[in-house]
Amino acid sequence: MMERLQKYMARCGVASRRKCEEFIANGEVKVNDEIVTELGFKVDPSSDKVVFRGEILKPEEEKVYIMLNKPTGYITSVKDEKGRKTVLDLVKTKERIYPIGRLDYDTSGLILLTNDGDVYNKLIHPREEIDKLYEAIIEGVPNKDQIDRFCNGVDIGGYITSNAKLVIIDKNPEKAKVHIIIHEGKNRQVRRMCDAINHPVMELKRKAIGRLEMKNLQEGQWRYLTEEEINYIK
Ligand code: URA
Repeated sequence: MMERLQKYMARCGVASRRKCEEFIANGEVKVNDEIVTELGFKVDPSSDKVVFRGEILKPEEEKVYIMLNKPTGYITSVKDEKGRKTVLDLVKTKERIYPIGRLDYDTSGLILLTNDGDVYNKLIHPREEIDKLYEAIIEGVPNKDQIDRFCNGVDIGGYITSNAKLVIIDKNPEKAKVHIIIHEGKNRQVRRMCDAINHPVMELKRKAIGRLEMKNLQEGQWRYLTEEEINYIK
């Protein structure tokens, strides 16, 4: 379908339509190797070559925001040199998405994926760290002193963690089910914090990132975020 040149340029992420009109009027845009300065000019995006400042324009992909309940046995990257399965083996979209942050190979639970670089950067380097809720099965049952240490900061190898929460949900003498909230994201942080109080993790699952929860999403399943959830992370 034919489309006005400035509209097509805006759709390719060059600038607003108004700004693109200026670029056209200034002779900065070529269509099929000819400079076009006429504002009403129409292009066929499927066959015309539109070049702005030496670059061929391509429409931007629609932005997508996805939540996956990752099973253990998958890595949270796009590719793996060791040939292990990745989260992209579970989520098939036409857009080129990537996971936001990491969950260990042997951790399950909530992981977000997107093709929106701005949201990715915002969540990877947040101004205020978002709480992350984990459910863990740990060896043995921590006592009050160990829980206090866990919550006030433990040394995980040259780094003292900031405040955290640990609540026992269920226990028997061999192990305890706990809920843990941290708001940092150091590598293998929960596992290293549990090691630091001598109650190593046996199983680990991320249940929530801030207000984002998996609700009834089963392991291996994914869904698009709702409008409200997208507004929350943006
Ligand atoms: N902490 C961990 O130790 N592992 C994870 O996958 C996430 C948080």
